[in-house]
Amino acid sequence: MVKHKQEPDVLSSSPAELEALMAPWGVPAYRARQLFEGLWRRPIRDYGDLTVWPKALRLSVEDKYPLHRVAASRVQTGQDGTLKLLVKLFDGQQVETVVLPHDYGYSVCVSSQVGCNMGCTFCASGLLKRSRNLTAGEILDQVRLANDLIQERGHVISRVDLMGIGEPMDNYENVVKFMRLAHEPLGLNLSYRHFTLSTSGLVPEIYQLAEEGIPVTLAVSLHAATDDLRSSLMPIDKAYPIAALIAACRVYGEKTGRRVSFEYALLAGVNDTDDQAMQLVRLLSGFSCHVNLIPWNPVPEHPFTPSSKNRVEQFQRIVQEHGISCTIRKELGQEIDAACGQLRRREEEALSP
Ligand code: SAH
Ligand code: SF4
Repeated sequence: MVKHKQEPDVLSSSPAELEALMAPWGVPAYRARQLFEGLWRRPIRDYGDLTVWPKALRLSVEDKYPLHRVAASRVQTGQDGTLKLLVKLFDGQQVETVVLPHDYGYSVCVSSQVGCNMGCTFCASGLLKRSRNLTAGEILDQVRLANDLIQERGHVISRVDLMGIGEPMDNYENVVKFMRLAHEPLGLNLSYRHFTLSTSGLVPEIYQLAEEGIPVTLAVSLHAATDDLRSSLMPIDKAYPIAALIAACRVYGEKTGRRVSFEYALLAGVNDTDDQAMQLVRLLSGFSCHVNLIPWNPVPEHPFTPSSKNRVEQFQRIVQEHGISCTIRKELGQEIDAACGQLRRREEEALSP
């Protein structure tokens, strides 16, 4: 039987919402703030750990609003310190969370949906259709889980990428709420500048995000500079062609003051020629943006081959020579980091009869 999540959802509530929730039972506002701090800053597993609260209050809240923390059902550790987690949600469904070490500290890549409906032809996440959106609390709790794991190494998460399973703009309200909650000074207190939201290009939501007053970095999965090719790789291109997408990105950059990034996964013989690099240059000329070339991670179900290292470097050279900032994404956790979405898929295949 599918369990239904109790409303309201404590993990998705701001300090003000927790205050409003508890006020009718005569709980003072400072107790609600203690709960929010306990949930995120000094993470409690359950209300029982919230020892600043009187026991009677803990028991009565626990009864009304059980916490549905996410939990790691599997942890793979790479030689470079990358952690890839299979994460179980309250209803037994699973997503992936990846913790990545960098020179500056640690970042976490979180999932926003169970599966994805966008149907990109090179991606493992889209092989499993979206079965539901994650709540704001479930996305935030992946950051908390990552923090729990790296705490032993004396670190905390300082950057968050919405680049795991799912299309964040297809779960807009919960994703925006997640970023607001993660920004709360009483909680994780993360700066908006330390978030990157990756989207396949849902144009209306890009305009909407530009107005939210949360200046996060927008990363747009481009992967091709012409609609003919892009629409064959990414069905979303038929609804929102490249010209409309770039126009929205320009507005996003102007409104937020953040430089937009374009992601471009190189597929041998598909989108990686010198001509295609020049098409990309023409498309982006005069736009202060950044291009991130991604070595494609093979997905056995998809008929592509990653471009060679030489090809990737030549592509980068052409883009850079024309004055566009362009980097090649470092491949972390190579031996464990099968393309995002694959760990969960493998697990589900192993479980199916
Ligand atoms: N749905 C969002 C965010 C999740 S995908 C989006 O599409 O942007 C995160 C990034 O990984 C995207 O740029 C996506 O195009 C890329 N990606 C998907 N499958 C990949 C693969 N097999 N190898 C390399 N990058 C991949
Ligand atoms: Fe979904 Fe992004 Fe994968 Fe496309 S690339 S199927 S939008 S997760």
